[in-house]
Amino acid sequence: MPLRAVLTAIVVGSVVVAAHTAQQPPGTSQSSSTKVVLLGTGTPGPTPDRSGPATAIVVNDTAYLIDFGPGVVRRASGAAASSGIAALQPTRLQVAFVTHLHSDHTVGYADLIFSPWTLGRRIPLEVYGPKGIKEMTSHLIEAYRVDIETRTNEDGNQRTFADGYKVNAHEITAGVVYKDKNVTVTAFATKHAMESYGYRFDTPDRSIVISGDTNPTQATIDACRGCDVLIHEVHTSAWLAARPEAGGAPPGTFRRFSEKYHTTTEQLGELAQRAKPRLLILYHYNSLTPQELQSDMMKHYSGHFVIGRDLDVY
Ligand SMILES: [Zn+2]
Ligand SMILES: [Zn+2]
Repeated sequence: MPLRAVLTAIVVGSVVVAAHTAQQPPGTSQSSSTKVVLLGTGTPGPTPDRSGPATAIVVNDTAYLIDFGPGVVRRASGAAASSGIAALQPTRLQVAFVTHLHSDHTVGYADLIFSPWTLGRRIPLEVYGPKGIKEMTSHLIEAYRVDIETRTNEDGNQRTFADGYKVNAHEITAGVVYKDKNVTVTAFATKHAMESYGYRFDTPDRSIVISGDTNPTQATIDACRGCDVLIHEVHTSAWLAARPEAGGAPPGTFRRFSEKYHTTTEQLGELAQRAKPRLLILYHYNSLTPQELQSDMMKHYSGHFVIGRDLDVY
């Protein structure tokens, strides 16, 4: 079961409701050495209790991040404190994979580069992502030139570990993109508004697939095929119908975008039926309320699923 409480109350407006009873998820046990830590389950909307998209997979005391939405370093630090996962201490965040370059998944990048450095990270960050990640990286480092110069000049207190802000950015294509003694990471192309990837992590004891933002794809089904954990984005049709257009855009603008590039509960139910994960975790979700998401998903999927919350550990 998740290492947090069995029954969690989520405050929705002034109403306190039981969000979901976490049963023992198949494929999950406290004895698994691999842990999935949800650092941010949110969306672009600045929901206070849901940080921007970021997930950690922790294997043998080493953390691998997927996406760096706003709040990523603070959430990692929070997980290190609340769940005792030392690998998520800021200075130990050293490897990250980004699904795509949308801002909601990347505005924590400067945080990930610079905050751990000020705390003592001595080695460059390794980052893997689509074409454009190198350019984003070099622009961010240039944007913080004054900070870097000040911290590394002869008065600078970070002069003795002057490499800690550096990043080795790797632009990837589909296939195996990373391998070490803990994990093999395989990227697969997803269907979103730009070049985008989902990732499959194979560790000594678990297989974990994460979708990033995407319309349903056969590639996700193929990547999972009975995997232990599938972490997938989703929204309800009722939420989409009720969503006002942002910025005064013409009616239907976001609906058309969403139908092409995101996934409804109905579509996710179909996908999961075929992908057959032992545990499905919903993240980066939009719904009217948590209970609306729960009941809508139950209509479309009879397998085991949970609605992810920040700092849940599976
Ligand atoms: Zn996106
Ligand atoms: Zn997104």
